[in-house]
Amino acid sequence: MKKKNLALGVDVGGTNLKCAIINEAGKVLLLRKAQTEVEKGRSQILSNIKSLVHACLKEKRLSAGDLAGIGLGTPGYVVDGVILGSPNMPGWHGTPIVETMSREFAAPFFASNDVTLAALAEYRYGQDAAVRNMVMYAIGTGIGGGIIVDGRVYEGSFGMAGEMGHVIVAAGGRLCGCGVRGCVEAYASATAIKNMARELLEKPEGPKSLIHRAVKGEPDKVTSKIVYDAAKAGDAAALEINEVVCRHLAVAVSGSISIFNPELIVLGGGVMQAGDIIMNRVREYLPKFTLADPLSRCRLDYAKLGEDAGVIGAAALAFQMTSRIP
Ligand SMILES: [Zn+2]
Repeated sequence: MKKKNLALGVDVGGTNLKCAIINEAGKVLLLRKAQTEVEKGRSQILSNIKSLVHACLKEKRLSAGDLAGIGLGTPGYVVDGVILGSPNMPGWHGTPIVETMSREFAAPFFASNDVTLAALAEYRYGQDAAVRNMVMYAIGTGIGGGIIVDGRVYEGSFGMAGEMGHVIVAAGGRLCGCGVRGCVEAYASATAIKNMARELLEKPEGPKSLIHRAVKGEPDKVTSKIVYDAAKAGDAAALEINEVVCRHLAVAVSGSISIFNPELIVLGGGVMQAGDIIMNRVREYLPKFTLADPLSRCRLDYAKLGEDAGVIGAAALAFQMTSRIP
């Protein structure tokens, strides 16, 4: 029997499906996209996933049996093979994804949270140094994340671990999209940055800000990129927002350092495109919140894989689950 050194990954997004075939070194041999068509409901989404996987296999002249396995990343949680809690994809909740796909494809099938799998990809293929323990924050519209413990993705008892965005960094603080006050997502996500900028523009001194000029007086047009362009130009209001972002992010990161004693913490997602203005400030704040010894042994770095991390991580899950080597 020949060694199965290929795996297929599927990343289910609110707009697009992605499918990739990778080898064990993480090299992407094929990457294709299709529309998810969330609005058409569960059976259409499932049928779109099946078609895309079949098309990718056909293009590479493979059958499912040639693969080590198939992995799938999805918003929400996967508990006992069933998708739970994907608020932006009504109808997807309750889908028995593992059973459905195992019936369709003659390969071991695994599924997990999409951001957790992005962290796995980052761990296996994004970072150069071999580390055993890593925590990732994906900072975009919301904040997600993933935890790698002893070389394997840590999913918790019910597949719900790694909710890095909903760790409280200010008791009773700003209201988060989850309904709780004080989550780091309410301080450091793109949504939070936008909200804080809007509030700032409404203050009497707000119109002096470059942010105000960039949105031409329409606060609803503000984005985190506009805020960070202004911050880099030295705008006082934008820099004030960056302080709030970085201080709260550092509180969250310090918690992960204390709990996991990781060698590496990775920051990724759209907001991190702002770069060193965030990274360096978080690094400056960390000693105020973190024990010196674990902090001195932990590196804080950027995520390297970009937007394909999710689909690569889905395939990496198949390798992880079918291999004794982490
Ligand atoms: Zn929250």
